[in-house]
Amino acid sequence: MLLTIVTQVLSLFIWNGFGIGYHGVHNTILLITSLAICSVLLLKDRQQISAFSYSMLHDADTKLPNKQFLLAQMVKKVSQKQHFSVLLFKPHVLSNARSTFGFEQANICINERLSILNTQLQTMNALKLEIQASRSAWLAHVDDSTFGCLVIGELELSHIEQFACLIHGVFEEGLTHEDINLVDSVDIGVAYYPMHGNTAKQILQCAIQAMTEKRLQGERWRMFDSESARLSEQRLSIAAALKIAIDENQLSLHFQPQICLKTGKVVGCEALLRWHHPVFGAVSPDVFIPIAESAGVINQLTEWVVENGIQWQAKFCKLIPDHVISINISAKDLLNKDLPVLLITILNEQKVRAESVMLELTESATLEESKKIKATLDDYRLIGLKLAIDDFGTGYSSLAYLSQLGFDEVKIDKQFVLNLPFSVNDQSICRATCDIAATLGAQVVAEGIEDEQSLAMLQSYGCQFGQGYYFSKPLCADDYLAWISDVQEVEISLDATANLID
Ligand code: C2E
Ligand code: MG
Ligand code: MG
Repeated sequence: MLLTIVTQVLSLFIWNGFGIGYHGVHNTILLITSLAICSVLLLKDRQQISAFSYSMLHDADTKLPNKQFLLAQMVKKVSQKQHFSVLLFKPHVLSNARSTFGFEQANICINERLSILNTQLQTMNALKLEIQASRSAWLAHVDDSTFGCLVIGELELSHIEQFACLIHGVFEEGLTHEDINLVDSVDIGVAYYPMHGNTAKQILQCAIQAMTEKRLQGERWRMFDSESARLSEQRLSIAAALKIAIDENQLSLHFQPQICLKTGKVVGCEALLRWHHPVFGAVSPDVFIPIAESAGVINQLTEWVVENGIQWQAKFCKLIPDHVISINISAKDLLNKDLPVLLITILNEQKVRAESVMLELTESATLEESKKIKATLDDYRLIGLKLAIDDFGTGYSSLAYLSQLGFDEVKIDKQFVLNLPFSVNDQSICRATCDIAATLGAQVVAEGIEDEQSLAMLQSYGCQFGQGYYFSKPLCADDYLAWISDVQEVEISLDATANLID
């Protein structure tokens, strides 16, 4: 538009031959007016352009430089080969504040904290992000609830620690509005140029990874660690491989006998999932089950275990009619509405009694969404299935809560049994668990019995059932079938308690 006006005015002049006189004065006035209009428009255009570029590089809520701005600064530092650390932090209180106080108020609260932090950062060796001649910031708003700053110079851990302390200090008192005070943790991740990458994007990615990684207890911040990055890549490839493990026939079940500690009779077994991958080899369930849970494949795995486990149970019952099979269920399976339907179908198809199937749930599984869990467990109980609480003593559930859920069986975790003869603590835990189970009206199974002394001690505490290498390791289905047709009853010394050491 500007160009059109200028061209028209100039052509008018050329047309009139720049003559002075009436036309000349008229044209001069026209020229001055046009130039004035042009200058105003030019100025407005400039303002618009600068406002536009400002909004492209800043966050509207916090008015802080955004990720693009931060990246541009990092690119500059990389091109100058200047060492720097990028420090990202996520105050978890922000999302809670948004839902409690509302978006606007949460922004006011967080901006207050950020402005305090910004002021304090001035005294430290953080890079000043020059926004405009009149404004500057030390912080950038990287995404929804993540902020960051650049620490210039060679990596010094004590220096990073100071930054972390500063951030923690600012968010320690939380966000307050109308007498409501919300406090939560702050995750901090750090990556360093040039150690963790050659480009600005790589460094930022490493800092994000460090920030999202689980911190150990007492850890204030995390430095990017290539080993844990390798592990998380490995987790991703395991998750991808798991998705096809069922179709490619890589799964199998092993069965570990459970023995009555009074009579030595085989009362049942625990079904334990095994995965043999063509490249990774045998992967332990302790590794792949948590990955399956986070990758969203656990429901499929459990359905596979339930289908195959109950088919085998039909065969085991032919040898031991009262045989009970225990199947491990993950917390995530409790939300799977198809599972009870599948259980009923398979039980009918295989003509297996529901009471001969025990579902094992870990203590931590029962703590998630407790109301829904109670209803789901009631559904399973209605079908006739039995319920066990696995890894008892490793979670934080209260007795009142457990009694409300109503379990038929409590399993003492192997960590309390493996070292039983030598640990007074473990002895107290095992004895107390047997008493608690009796109070709850549940039977007790101890897992991880590896020697006669442990067995004797558990017998003396009134533990009814046991499982462990002392009796048998988990066996593949054919070996287990052969084992129960051969053994059926394990020899157990009834006065084993006589061997107890004080
Ligand atoms: P868990 O349910 O507590 O299973 C008992 C674990 O203890 C099994 O390890 C078993 O092999 C091991 N164990 C039994 N007796 C002894 C012993 O005397 N000494 C020692 N050192 N270990 C013993 P496994 O098979 O590696 O399973 C580990 C965990 O993986 C299981 O712990 C369970 O939480 C999970 N898991 C296994 N199969 C499944 C499954 O089908 N579904 C789900 N959701 N989880 C499963
Ligand atoms: Mg178990
Ligand atoms: Mg266990």
